[in-house]
Amino acid sequence: REGTVLVTGGAGYIGSHAVLALLDAGWKVVVVDNLVTGFDWAVDPRATLVVANIADDDKVRAAIRDHGVIAIMHFAGSVVVPESVSDPLKYYRNNTAASRSLIESAVAEGVKHFIFSSTAATYGIPEVVPVREDSPKQPINPYGMSKLMTEIMLKDVAAAHPINYAALRYFNVAGADPQGRSGQSTAGATHLIKIAAEAATGKRGHVSVFGTDFDTPDGTGVRDYIHVSDLAAAHVDALDLLIAKPTENHTMNAGYGRGFSVLQVLDAVDRVTNLTIERKLEGRRAGDPDALVADNSAILAALPWRPKHDDLEGIVKDALAWERKLAERQG
Ligand code: UDP
Repeated sequence: REGTVLVTGGAGYIGSHAVLALLDAGWKVVVVDNLVTGFDWAVDPRATLVVANIADDDKVRAAIRDHGVIAIMHFAGSVVVPESVSDPLKYYRNNTAASRSLIESAVAEGVKHFIFSSTAATYGIPEVVPVREDSPKQPINPYGMSKLMTEIMLKDVAAAHPINYAALRYFNVAGADPQGRSGQSTAGATHLIKIAAEAATGKRGHVSVFGTDFDTPDGTGVRDYIHVSDLAAAHVDALDLLIAKPTENHTMNAGYGRGFSVLQVLDAVDRVTNLTIERKLEGRRAGDPDALVADNSAILAALPWRPKHDDLEGIVKDALAWERKLAERQG
């Protein structure tokens, strides 16, 4: 593999796993991360870390030139949905406007390929589940809108300039590197498997179950949990595709096409740990859909990628192993 891949947000949760997958596949990697939510120790030492904001054109363009960057994988951004409702301009700045700057730097420096971290939040509350890529995009929060706007920019830019792109719409990303090299480290978790792992390791006393009256088999919310290392591997395959087919662009769901309920997830945690995590049944959070599951036929057709870690207990085990490591690190 020739050339270097620039990974924004490479010090964060998903980005740090993408860095590992790229390095393991033989790519050279330069990370651009402002370390606001990421950690320098999360960046594999085989990669170069440039501490900068992705909207800092001078630093980003210098990194592209200095390292011979041929492709960008763009993970940096803000990801807390309720915060996006209370502070929408932060999301339009950090996600939409900063992405605009990054894309401009990519075009100006002749970067050929761009892979974007998008989200199932672009669909809003889907009418049909499993949800297909051509379903209506009606985000119900500024987070989803800020990501959809970036998808739209990429489509227009790829039509005008010699760059192609893949946008991967993530479902519920969970787990950690099976070799224990990275995991989800950000404090103040809101995601179910991370919260359950914190409860299992004594960091919190119980898990709240948000809503028991959804239109699902057991009444709790159903989601398509995808292992972060599978997700990272999909990015590496997507890059190969963009290189092989420079006139093609792809927008693909990244999920397994099957869902588990909140209670099924907590039962899996109990089985893996031999504990009984305390559940507190509570009301729904604002804007939570009943079920969100990917139709993943597009990604399976476009890429050689196949899930390798699509076992719920395995995802939980990897999340737990990382949580224990974090607990040791933090004393
Ligand atoms: N959830 C829950 N308790 C929690 C966190 C999440 O019951 O402490 C539920 C949430 O309502 C949803 C599912 O778990 O049905 C996944 O939520 P998460 O926040 O992990 O991801 P989202 O699907 O909202 O992006």
